[in-house]
Amino acid sequence: MQSPFQVQFIGATGTVTGSKYLVKYDRYKILIDCGLFQGIKNVRRRNWSELPFEASAIDAVLLTHAHIDHSGYLPALMKRGFHGPIYCSVATKALCKVLLPDAGYLQEEDARYANYKHFSKHEPAEPLYTEEDARKVLKQIKDVAADEILSLPGGMTAQLIPVGHILGASAIRLEYQGKSITFSGDVGRENDLIQYPPQPLPATDYLVLESTYGDRLHEQVDAEQAIADVINKTMSRGGIVLMPAFAVGRAQLALHIIERLKHQHRIPDVPIYLNSPMAIRATELFYNFHDLHKLSEDDCHRIDEMTHYVKTVEESIALNQRKYPAVIISASGMASGGRVLHHLKTLLGDHKNSILFLGYQAAGTRGDSLTHGATSVKIHGQYVGVKAEIHNLDALSSHADYAEMTRWLEKMPSKPKQVFITHGEASASDCFRRHLKDRFGWQVDVPEYLDVALLD
Ligand SMILES: [Zn+2]
Repeated sequence: MQSPFQVQFIGATGTVTGSKYLVKYDRYKILIDCGLFQGIKNVRRRNWSELPFEASAIDAVLLTHAHIDHSGYLPALMKRGFHGPIYCSVATKALCKVLLPDAGYLQEEDARYANYKHFSKHEPAEPLYTEEDARKVLKQIKDVAADEILSLPGGMTAQLIPVGHILGASAIRLEYQGKSITFSGDVGRENDLIQYPPQPLPATDYLVLESTYGDRLHEQVDAEQAIADVINKTMSRGGIVLMPAFAVGRAQLALHIIERLKHQHRIPDVPIYLNSPMAIRATELFYNFHDLHKLSEDDCHRIDEMTHYVKTVEESIALNQRKYPAVIISASGMASGGRVLHHLKTLLGDHKNSILFLGYQAAGTRGDSLTHGATSVKIHGQYVGVKAEIHNLDALSSHADYAEMTRWLEKMPSKPKQVFITHGEASASDCFRRHLKDRFGWQVDVPEYLDVALLD
């Protein structure tokens, strides 16, 4: 059946997760991003609901970047019948090899835990997908060079534009019969310490923009000094600094800053542990893609020398029994899962310790509760009292704030016909909509879940 050129918003509406856009044209259907919903239960439930399209009818998927909220639904899509190619940048493909099997493993763990505790409505609880399902996806991924014009079925073309954020992250510009639409994906910072700034977007008729920080500016603080202060204060009390960090991107940034601080003797020579198998693999990849980030081979070598990599479960348990000053970097960044939970359980109850979050904390996550002053949080079914000092260094976020986004958009050669704001909490998206309308006079809308826009 023939369809006019159109886009449907299937995720990242009123939330920062579950990015998915269905583009239809002629008799073809492609998906831009295929992310998992995360955070609040009502949002997560959407991972299990019926799709508003036939997975088997999708001709191709294109990924902006590897973060799970943009790629983590792929194995579920394949289980439901998708068997086409998945296109993305070289680094995104490499990162997916690390992130997707891990996401499958976590789904299996969750199901095992639900069965053990009998709290699932479904007996037995099934994982959304398994590690093996995720490995099947990897075979379908094909990489696209940054300057390549990719040909898709029916005369559609696609182009990737690097946007900082994390290794390999790109905006995607589609063109069909002279009409174009560009999806920003997640947009990085103009002055990130390790990622290059986002490249200016080419002219586009339609533009889908993220709005994680659509209503906020990052604090203008010296992030290095702030980290030095937390570490020094905690060390003087004989405590441990725990940094929950996103395995890809912020974990490497944290290591780089700590290495510089040590090198400049601004913090004591305490041991630094990276306790996340996924972050360890992402760090190794980082060392391989030298042309895609700002760190030199020397920088990478010094970080490698400094860091104790905690690989096995036994090493992780031993680290968790440590009583002496140390800095531990562990995932996940919003404390929604992973090894960081075991550390939180042991460290939260002691005022000597500090927990230092490094960026956006989505609604409903433990990171969100803790940075908003929760006096206790539930971990593995038990409440844990909070006595440790909690900090959130938002200045190290990997997302541009609305002023940075605006300066990036100013570089566009011409005015888009229409802009769609997605990937934000409802209030952030609406603030960004008003801001862009006032600043540029653009036609800007905030689509809702399942809205369709014709691209004529
Ligand atoms: Zn991202």
